[in-house]
Amino acid sequence: MEVQDIKVRKILNSRGLWALELDLKVDEKWSRVSVPAGLSRGKNEAAQFEVSKSMELLPKFKSQVVGAYADQETLDKQLQKISGPQKKKFGVDLVLATSIAALKAQGTIYKTIAKLAETKSAMPTPMLNIINGGLHAGNNLAIQEFMIVPHRFGTFAEKIEAAAEIYQRLRENLKAKYGRAAVNIGDEGGFAPPMETTVDAIEAIQAVLDELGHSKSVGIALDCAASSYFENKKYVIDGKALTTNNYIEHLKEICTKYSLFSVEDPIQEDDFAGWTNFTKEVNCIVVGDDLLVTNPKRVDEAMKKKACDAVLVKPNQIGTVTETLKVIDMARKAGWKYIISHRSGETNSDFIAHLAVGSEAPLIKAGAPARGERVAKYNRLLRLEKVIS
Ligand code: PEP
Ligand code: MG
Repeated sequence: MEVQDIKVRKILNSRGLWALELDLKVDEKWSRVSVPAGLSRGKNEAAQFEVSKSMELLPKFKSQVVGAYADQETLDKQLQKISGPQKKKFGVDLVLATSIAALKAQGTIYKTIAKLAETKSAMPTPMLNIINGGLHAGNNLAIQEFMIVPHRFGTFAEKIEAAAEIYQRLRENLKAKYGRAAVNIGDEGGFAPPMETTVDAIEAIQAVLDELGHSKSVGIALDCAASSYFENKKYVIDGKALTTNNYIEHLKEICTKYSLFSVEDPIQEDDFAGWTNFTKEVNCIVVGDDLLVTNPKRVDEAMKKKACDAVLVKPNQIGTVTETLKVIDMARKAGWKYIISHRSGETNSDFIAHLAVGSEAPLIKAGAPARGERVAKYNRLLRLEKVIS
């Protein structure tokens, strides 16, 4: 493959902030990619620059990237080499957009991924964030994401249908209980009601599952994003400031009482020992996001320490397709679940839908079944299911 030219521009993302869009010319064909931005970012993620800075760096970047490559892995190695640790020399946006655009130039994206990852194409189960809190909403919920996981249905289409029905019923229930302002939405399209506690949000979802007869077929999952409410060595949640031990007890009770499907980032990102203690205590899947930042080295450390048993996969935390697939491979070999994930600031890119199908991911999280940038992923998956089945 020969990289012949690169053009970049700024476009708006779902928060109304600038995102990078990049066109890559490979073997006489142009492919276009845009990249997302997170808000609850792990501190070990790859560096993300202002789009204007990425644009200024383009001439220098181009001079080190344009040329011939044997394959995706060779190009990604070059991208890693020139961008340095945490992609600090050029920022993750230029690096990731180039890596994905090169992948896209090689044919149908999910098929190329399946070839590179040596996986079979398969449909994932969606995890849909229907109540937003934390840094993604203007309410008092400490926990960032309250998700539904419609895992016990035959097809992806049936899963999305159940999720959409639950989302609409939740809207009605919230409006009836808290008034119309309660159905204003947060950054990922979930409702952002004026609730005070974790249990309030879980019970509102559980009530809908019970009403619709879905309590056996749909699980509830949390993304705590706990680093965002860890202040002065205490977890500030549900009207209390808790020590790590008391907080683990509190969260464990919730996991058990509501038979949660999974909990992401239950513990702040620097406390590997706290993670190991939590994972030992609970039955649900424990997912590392800020802790692992899609970084093979951190995943390896977490596996050795038994800190969690699933990894959230966000390509822009690490920067290249090859490194992302490395993390997926590690998860598969260890018997860990891996969850392909969007970011809270998104474009209409549907790359992660292809990544999930091509890498045989068991799960994908892409926000609520509402808002264009979220449904772009689910709608692509609905189309892909028709193609691969
Ligand atoms: C997350 O924390 O999993 C998430 C999607 O949020 P952000 O993109 O803000 O990191
Ligand atoms: Mg997270």
